[in-house]
Amino acid sequence: MRLRNIPGARDVIADTSFCIKEPDKFKGKWKTDVFHNDNPIHIEIGMGKGQFIMELAKRNPEINYVGIEKYSSVLLRGIQKMEELEEPLKNLVFIRFDAEYITNIFGEEEIDRIYLNFSDPWPKDRHAKRRLPSRQFLERYDHILKRDGVVEFKTDNRDLFEFALEEAPEAGWRIKVSTFDLHNDPKLNEGNIMTEYEERFSSMGNPICKYIVER
Ligand code: SAM
Repeated sequence: MRLRNIPGARDVIADTSFCIKEPDKFKGKWKTDVFHNDNPIHIEIGMGKGQFIMELAKRNPEINYVGIEKYSSVLLRGIQKMEELEEPLKNLVFIRFDAEYITNIFGEEEIDRIYLNFSDPWPKDRHAKRRLPSRQFLERYDHILKRDGVVEFKTDNRDLFEFALEEAPEAGWRIKVSTFDLHNDPKLNEGNIMTEYEERFSSMGNPICKYIVER
């Protein structure tokens, strides 16, 4: 998702209490120093405008959520949506950050679950390592995710999904469940929260793929 550069987006991010600035300072200390509780932490990498993670946070107040987005202009929309709520969500924070460096901001096994939704496909082979479900990223997730933690990935991009299905075992992960048509899989679709991209592409008739992987 590339929005036009929105002037002032960086200033809004610098001023809002919904965003964690200098997230590297909280490595290993997110529960005590950010959320002030001992609840599990779930993160979404590439949260876009934040619809998915905000709804998750509303439904699950006993879980802490961190939404990660690389671009200020995109993250700005998430912040604006938080500002519009009557009650801001205490269990959700955002960070503007490139997940390539995710091991700089979370400690070993600090995270309980990772969501990847409609990640950028990076179709050229030479860019494969930039794809969020690539073996290079799975190696990073391996450090920050609890041993019994999972990565959940959704996309309508069949090529990217098939790549992800091949990468997981190569990187030492096991595919716990997978489907090429989430919305017609009653069991996997139960409680599904749609992302902005999921709403857009499923309304165009694209089937949605999903996997859950574990080590
Ligand atoms: N997850 C949202 C959805 O499903 O509607 C947005 C999908 S959009 C195609 C992918 C998002 O991931 C973009 O907003 C992009 O900026 C973000 N992104 C891509 N690579 C990233 C990275 N390395 N770190 C953090 N965010 C990233």
